[in-house]
Amino acid sequence: MTPPIEYDADAVHTAVLTFRWVVRRNGDDASYEASGTCPVCTCPMTRTWSFGQPPVAKGGFLGRRKEPGPEPYYTMCECRTLHMNRPASEPRGCGALLTIAPPPASGQSAGATP
Ligand SMILES: [Zn+2]
Ligand SMILES: [Zn+2]
Repeated sequence: MTPPIEYDADAVHTAVLTFRWVVRRNGDDASYEASGTCPVCTCPMTRTWSFGQPPVAKGGFLGRRKEPGPEPYYTMCECRTLHMNRPASEPRGCGALLTIAPPPASGQSAGATP
């Protein structure tokens, strides 16, 4: 057993991670949910991005885009594990900044029906 790692606000994982994407459509809006494992603390985490919505000030996430686009995504680790020395202003994560590969660019219906 390895002891839980400490919160590290300076931790940056520069390699692009491949997370599993789930797309949920709701009218003109779509939310993209990326799930994977934080390589820094090895905890599972999920992060959701929304697109197409008006820029309502709700949560104030790191930059909301109009569409998914091909650029990589950046997110702080949002695992639910309690890491030591985590500041009270950070409810989740180990402090690492992660780079996630964008969802597969398929604007059409997902996959062919058998
Ligand atoms: Zn983490
Ligand atoms: Zn963690």
